[in-house]
Amino acid sequence: MTFRTRLFLGSLAAAGATLVVATVLVSWSLRQSVSERIERSLVSQARLTAELLSGQRASTRAELDLEADTLGRLAEARVTFIAPDGTVVGDSEVPSQGLGSVDNHADRPEVRAAHAHGLGVSTRYSDTVDADMLYVAVTVRNSLVPDVSVVRLALPLTEVREQLAVVRRAALAAAATGLASALALAWITSALLARRMRAIADAARRYAAGDLTRPVRDGGSDEIGTVARALDDTVREVGRRAGELAADRARMEAILGGMIEGVLVVDAQGRLQLVNAAARRMLKLTGDPGDRHYLEIVRHPEIAAQIGAALAGTATDGRELTLPQEPNAIFVARTAPVATGVTRGAVLVLHDISDLRRADQVRRDFVANVSHELRTPLTAVRGYVEALLDGVPDPEQSQRFLETIARHTLRMERLVRDLLRLARLDAGQESLERVVCRIDALFNAVEADLAEAAEARAVTVTRDIAPEAAAVNGDPAKLHDALRNLLENAINYSPEGGTITLASRRHDGHVVITVTDEGPGIPASDLRRVFERFYRVDKARSRGARDPGGTGLGLAIVRHLIELHGGRVSAHNAATGGAVMTVEIPDL
Ligand code: ADP
Repeated sequence: MTFRTRLFLGSLAAAGATLVVATVLVSWSLRQSVSERIERSLVSQARLTAELLSGQRASTRAELDLEADTLGRLAEARVTFIAPDGTVVGDSEVPSQGLGSVDNHADRPEVRAAHAHGLGVSTRYSDTVDADMLYVAVTVRNSLVPDVSVVRLALPLTEVREQLAVVRRAALAAAATGLASALALAWITSALLARRMRAIADAARRYAAGDLTRPVRDGGSDEIGTVARALDDTVREVGRRAGELAADRARMEAILGGMIEGVLVVDAQGRLQLVNAAARRMLKLTGDPGDRHYLEIVRHPEIAAQIGAALAGTATDGRELTLPQEPNAIFVARTAPVATGVTRGAVLVLHDISDLRRADQVRRDFVANVSHELRTPLTAVRGYVEALLDGVPDPEQSQRFLETIARHTLRMERLVRDLLRLARLDAGQESLERVVCRIDALFNAVEADLAEAAEARAVTVTRDIAPEAAAVNGDPAKLHDALRNLLENAINYSPEGGTITLASRRHDGHVVITVTDEGPGIPASDLRRVFERFYRVDKARSRGARDPGGTGLGLAIVRHLIELHGGRVSAHNAATGGAVMTVEIPDL
């Protein structure tokens, strides 16, 4: 049964019960008062009749009966005169000649009561008039008519009942009207209340579904209004707190998502609570791991042991390890217990230190390389110096020794100069001063620098500058150093009498400068590596005994200088076999 039906039936039942009780009570009391009024009026009529009769001088019975008829008409009731012995001496309903056959009335209850108390009232069936009657008998006090001691008035009860029926009908009509009004009122009231209750129920359903945007807004000052307002207030508060929690969570997720360390949180049962993006990457997790057990995804005895210890309340020191998912990477795993008042668990932080280790290795290699590169010329210098100290050989030989010492010293000087330059570039100490540089001016300058070397090897340098790539936006000194290095290598590796081409063109928003020679080229496997520090392609293929060789740092410096411009440098081989060094500088 709906709330509305219940409310409607309840209020209708209450109104109906009240109406029935009221109707019964009212009609009962009305009936009482009508009966009493009729009885009282009959009593006063009887007294009036007795009074009238006591002033009469009717002596004969015929006159008395006539008098009874007259008074009966006036009183609109049956009037009976009764002699002291009970004989009926006059009756408005009985013709005078029939009076003799009327029963003696001495035993009638009202007559007896009248004799005893002066007034008698009785209700009973009358044989004489064949109907229920109300009888009132009074004694005649000062009788000029000694034959009459009691005057009795009778009223048929049908009349009384008719009056009562009128009263009952009125009461029933009032009850029916009242019931109809109660019905309408109960209907309207229940509809209004049910509508408000429905609004609250609808809002509660919306709230339960997560839509906190539409409150009930019931302005009533009654209990329903209070409930609605309490619901709205609660939901507003819940919404505010949910908003705060969501913001907190979003902030936390943003922080965790932006971390380079992998973070993994498990609850006291070891089920995953949180795995950030970095941890997913490191553990090679695809999709949402849900709340699986950490052992299902970590699969590393060391980490499992660490999490186990953390769940037991012990924090562990960082351990270096390699994950089966990523065998080339080195991680440091650190685990700590988490206790946040209500929840307990553990947090694992994975830190990828591969880059750190690699950088460390590069540094170690670098130091070893530098030591090696310096030791070779130093040993040679020391050897020749000692030979010279041991005794001066012939002037020709000592001249050769001194030339060799000078060459090695020059090599060391070049090495130290290049190392210092790289250190400056690494430290970001060389700033870039970009201007528009003409390509032919750049080419002129490097060619002039290396004219002697080119001439010595009978190398020809040609140019191929596209009109749209006649200028480049860059630092002229740094571009000069880079191009000089590339042209120097090209000359060194060119065959005697070969041709080197310096070219520039525009491609994809870049000015592309190439240095192409006709030398042996660079093996495909070394094309990328020639830009590493101290990297040299197979020494046997290099410049040979003629020169102790470059420092192995030239191309590393070139790469640095070009990357400082936001560009890149790469090595290829020409189809005809020579090396092609390509420099790309972005247009600004
Ligand atoms: P280096 O001072 O030894 O020349 P670079 O860094 O300039 O050092 O060059 C690294 C290596 O790249 C060289 O040792 C050489 O093997 C190779 N290389 C550079 N330029 C050329 C070229 N034009 N032709 C062939 N090999 C080259």
